[in-house]
Amino acid sequence: MVATSAAPRAADQVFRVTRLKLCGEFIHLFYEFLIRRRHDEILHQNRTDALLDRGYSRQYHSPSRFGAPDRQMAKRNVANGETNGDTTADLLRDSDENDRFFMGFALNEAQLARDAGEVPIGAVIVIDNQIAGSGRNHPIGSNDPTAHAEIIALRETARRRGNYRLTEATLYVTIEPCAMCAGAIVNARIKRLVYGAADLRAGGVDTVFQICTNSSLNHRVEVTSGVLAEEGRQLMQAFFKQRRKTKSAENGDDGVDGDQPGITSEE
Ligand SMILES: [Zn+2]
Repeated sequence: MVATSAAPRAADQVFRVTRLKLCGEFIHLFYEFLIRRRHDEILHQNRTDALLDRGYSRQYHSPSRFGAPDRQMAKRNVANGETNGDTTADLLRDSDENDRFFMGFALNEAQLARDAGEVPIGAVIVIDNQIAGSGRNHPIGSNDPTAHAEIIALRETARRRGNYRLTEATLYVTIEPCAMCAGAIVNARIKRLVYGAADLRAGGVDTVFQICTNSSLNHRVEVTSGVLAEEGRQLMQAFFKQRRKTKSAENGDDGVDGDQPGITSEE
């Protein structure tokens, strides 16, 4: 008697637990979707604002997922004679301006890292003038010493493209990559690296080690440095200044200087 009623009760219990789990999973996915959408909105808004500050016209920027320039729209505008000065078409033609444009996205990632209490470094990977992946520093949050912005961006891009070699890609990062990231950039066969401020203490590309251009390795990366360096450096300096202030307010002892890359005002 007891055994016969216990079985349906157990089945009922399993059903309830499964239902609760599915419910939880759905809420989690929905929450992630909302966060991702907000992230994209902020990213696009920040880029648009930054471009408007620099005199770009809003009508030439398509509200695509990452707010990246719409080449077709720009071409159309040129064909219609609608360009007279600062437009996306001009931006795509001018490679320096193009680099600054994409570095702006990396700076946004760096700001998001800072907001999460991580050292503010951000990266994006661009293929055919489209952002193929992005990453921001978060070793503290993920308890992962390899969770640097570049590594996260490389992993995301390689996974999305189903290929661990990114031979057509340009990686933008706000601060000179460390030795680990420079090694990963070489392993991914990245075509071109664009970084902002030099890291005088641990730079793995130009300053301390020259990993990306080392003739002993079977792949060399084209390197451009100093792009929006001041913006990237200021984010770092403000972050460490704030952290020292918080630490000294807590216990009169900072003990965080060792974490700070050697970001200085010199290039
Ligand atoms: Zn690194």
